[in-house]
Amino acid sequence: MRFIIQKFGGTSLVSQELREKVAARAIAAREEGVTPVLVVSAIGRVNDPFATDTLVNFARQVHREIESREMDMLMSCGEIISGVIMAGTFQKLGYPSVFLSGPQAGIVTDNSFSDARILKIKPENIIRHAREGKIVVVAGFQGMTEDGEITTLGRGGSDTTAAALGVALDAEFVDIYTDVEGIMTADPRIVENARIREVVTYDEICHLAHEGAKVVHPRAVEIVMQKNIPMRVKCTFSNAPGTLVTSTGEVFKGTIDITRDRTITGITQIPNLTQFRISMDNGSGGLTVKRRLFNSLALAGISLDFINVYPDRVVFTVRGDMAQKVLQVLETTGINNVEYTDGCSKVAAVGAGMTGLPGIMAAIVDALTREEIQILQSNDSHTTIWLLVKREDMEKAVRALHRRFALAD
Ligand code: ASP
Ligand code: MG
Repeated sequence: MRFIIQKFGGTSLVSQELREKVAARAIAAREEGVTPVLVVSAIGRVNDPFATDTLVNFARQVHREIESREMDMLMSCGEIISGVIMAGTFQKLGYPSVFLSGPQAGIVTDNSFSDARILKIKPENIIRHAREGKIVVVAGFQGMTEDGEITTLGRGGSDTTAAALGVALDAEFVDIYTDVEGIMTADPRIVENARIREVVTYDEICHLAHEGAKVVHPRAVEIVMQKNIPMRVKCTFSNAPGTLVTSTGEVFKGTIDITRDRTITGITQIPNLTQFRISMDNGSGGLTVKRRLFNSLALAGISLDFINVYPDRVVFTVRGDMAQKVLQVLETTGINNVEYTDGCSKVAAVGAGMTGLPGIMAAIVDALTREEIQILQSNDSHTTIWLLVKREDMEKAVRALHRRFALAD
């Protein structure tokens, strides 16, 4: 059997009219001779009655603290409701269909409630139902531990379910249907002439997703990438071709028609970061301070970014809502000489084509300084250059880089 995974986000499922559009996509795939397996998210967004956030808010209004095991059972209900309604939609249209919860679909996870990892998939149930001619609908975002506990996969985790099923069933494609037409060169709310990319590499989309482009969960990309299963990001509401996500090899060896001229694929941004600067003496006393500093922040479960260590200084950023906690930890650890700047933003330029190419940073610095934007810090990897700027400069920086790298053309 040739499988295709079709994952639909909550906004694609909010009305019966839309659900019939969703069904039509699966039926069309079937008519082309492939077997669709649908993965659904909970219906709608916050304030829609069965959206994940609505369920969470309801529980929190009743009890401020509920154990994560129980919260996972509650959160898994959104996708159950959605899957039942979707299978019902196929049945009403005259197509036999079956709904499977994550556990019924054979999704086995570890026991990190609320952020579980998929350990393996036993796809026999899915395959059996598909062989019997039923359209299989699977609940996204959930699984079960070896000892029978229900888990969820972290917010946005339905993409992860789709990717893992794609690997388990050796699917021809994992299609992520959403409410945008594909991966864009920048956030269209900031850059008016941002446009859709036809092809991006796994690596690029991972970086874009980690750096604030919310279209696909990075974990899902990491999963399909391991088995080279092509992923497509498509829009439920239009027939636009969407964005194909594939390996760098295929993109640059000419199988797919884009050239190495493309150095930057897209610009993303994350607002609300706080930068910390901590100074110390550059002798052995300073070494002890550094060790205490990083240990205490790690023990407090604080995730750091933009980390630069110098002999006499340590610089890093955290999410703005963690800044107070950092200050507390540093104070109780007895670390002095702390300075910080609230209201920073991270702007990232992502592109697999920049690897080994001189002049990218020069172009970035030129573009930003012409706009009188201060770069507070920078960092780079083979596919990404990160820049920390003041929040008030964020939009200007994104636009300047988009223009500089001619991403609108
Ligand atoms: N419903 C879950 C969430 O809102 C999973 C998903 O939508 O991917 O996080
Ligand atoms: Mg999502």
